[in-house]
Amino acid sequence: MGPFNRFSLSRDMGIDLGTANTLVYVSGKGIVLQEPSVVAIDQDKNNPLAVGEDAKKMLGRTPGNVTALRPLRDGVIADFDTAELMLKHFITRVSEGRLVPPRIVIGIPSGVTGVERRAVMEAAAQAGAREVYLIDEPVAAAIGAGLPVADPTGNMIIDIGGGTTEVAVLSLQGTVLSESVRVAGDELSDAISQYMKKVHNLVIGERTAEEVKIRIGSAYPSDNDDQGMEVRGLHLLSGLPRTVTVKEGEIRESMSEPLSVIVEAVKRTLERTPPELAADIIDRGIMLAGGGALLKGLDTLISHETGIVVHVAADPLSCVVLGTGRVLENFKELERVFSSRSRSI
Ligand code: ADP
Ligand code: MG
Repeated sequence: MGPFNRFSLSRDMGIDLGTANTLVYVSGKGIVLQEPSVVAIDQDKNNPLAVGEDAKKMLGRTPGNVTALRPLRDGVIADFDTAELMLKHFITRVSEGRLVPPRIVIGIPSGVTGVERRAVMEAAAQAGAREVYLIDEPVAAAIGAGLPVADPTGNMIIDIGGGTTEVAVLSLQGTVLSESVRVAGDELSDAISQYMKKVHNLVIGERTAEEVKIRIGSAYPSDNDDQGMEVRGLHLLSGLPRTVTVKEGEIRESMSEPLSVIVEAVKRTLERTPPELAADIIDRGIMLAGGGALLKGLDTLISHETGIVVHVAADPLSCVVLGTGRVLENFKELERVFSSRSRSI
């Protein structure tokens, strides 16, 4: 490798294009960007007003001519033009005007179709990438969580993001089997919204519901069930703003349905796992990643339901992007993680 090559390598990027958050890793630097996957658009001018954190603040707070969108909401690319715009915006922002286009490794939900894969690669190429590779999120998450994915050992990873939960069994750098369900963090927040409306006659926004989930949400009973939180919203009957106090126990109850969908997906994947790999998983435990892994007691719930030890990754929100980073830094050894349809020419 000549000096020029080494110079250009330092701009290589790993991107976690998540349904809730996008993160960017720059080789030699580490994680340089972590922003919500949200774009605010001024429809009159068809212009992006804000991207990332600034746009997320506008969710549910926009005047008629502005829309704040989550282009990947359900784990598919719901709005391609906006997804492309967002990806280009983030790549350009971290490129800082450098001229040599980088090699980019992008982690995407495994449910994304062939057409959408092509589209993501094209967007990255248009943003200046000289080589684009796609990697399935569970594989990147496992690498980022430090699992020995290159070994002939079965590892199970559960990645609970905003839009999708991905359950995968990996061995020898490959996905042996996987399942993706469109129930994850967003559905947990939605369940809280619906509960507040039905039981407390309180209409709350998406952001408030997420706040409740993060502050007092839990998946398994604890001694804290009486912990309360004040929630503000619009009273359904009077139409006026109102504050209601809710308890941890009732919030857990309100999320029981989406939580059981996640648990069932894990059980189904375990049932389909070949015996040798299942034995490895029993020995090694299950790894939990993605923002949803931060829900209090979720590891205990899954462990209780499956009888297998569950570990939460050290930094669940960063696993995928750290995985793309490790692939960049060890490109030759880990090249096999890309499937042929995920490789740019
Ligand atoms: P994606 O990969 O789809 O972008 P992330 O892995 O970034 O998703 O996770 C985002 C999800 O994690 C959101 O639904 C968010 O509400 C949830 N989340 C983040 N922090 C917590 C927390 N402390 N407790 C529960 N859920 C959390
Ligand atoms: Mg993710």
